[in-house]
Amino acid sequence: MQKIKLITFDLDDTFWDIGPVIINAELSTRKWLEEKVGEVDWGNMESFLALRKDLAEKDPSLYWDLGKLRREIFRVKLAPVTSDENELKELVEESFNYFLDKRHEIIFYDGVIEALEDLATRYDLGVLTNGNADINKLNIGEYFKFSVSSVDVKSNKPDKGHFQKALDLSGCDANEVLHIGDHQINDVVGALDSGMKAIWFNKDKVDWEQKLSKPAEISNWYNYKIIDEMA
Ligand SMILES: [Mg+2]
Repeated sequence: MQKIKLITFDLDDTFWDIGPVIINAELSTRKWLEEKVGEVDWGNMESFLALRKDLAEKDPSLYWDLGKLRREIFRVKLAPVTSDENELKELVEESFNYFLDKRHEIIFYDGVIEALEDLATRYDLGVLTNGNADINKLNIGEYFKFSVSSVDVKSNKPDKGHFQKALDLSGCDANEVLHIGDHQINDVVGALDSGMKAIWFNKDKVDWEQKLSKPAEISNWYNYKIIDEMA
């Protein structure tokens, strides 16, 4: 069996729970902004989703550039509070930066850091994320040789972009790479389709719903040693 040289990881919902982080980031950015500019009409969830869809249809790069998408949304929502284009630009940038800081207020799942620390002594590690978390802002940058985001490859997993970039950066063959992530399609099917090995991070122990047979899985970061059995 081919030896594993590189392990790549997803971030959101693999190293931490992202849902509450985004909700908190969203709400605290709104609160912070309203203290600055007064009431803003944020609309309901339905109108938010409709706006997002509308913006992405006009500019398809917003499907993979979440930062740009979020700035565009702030721009639309804040346009009524100022007629000064420079002020609007500044507000959008400040709002986005505030949001991004809050987006990094994550709580690692138990065992993540210990697992990374240990694995980094035996394998090269990399990050393949569709989101915009920055490993260097989270003090885990030292464990990784590289981090690839959707903006870097202008596409989202499960498309080949992230996986191909990992091969390009590492010089590994696909069968020397193991990818670990929570998403059945974006992570597991994407990696297997690219010829890599995969471990499904299945924290909530839900059912496997894909046609491909279920790969090895772990439900917490104390079980990561099965990697060595695959290697
Ligand atoms: Mg994920």
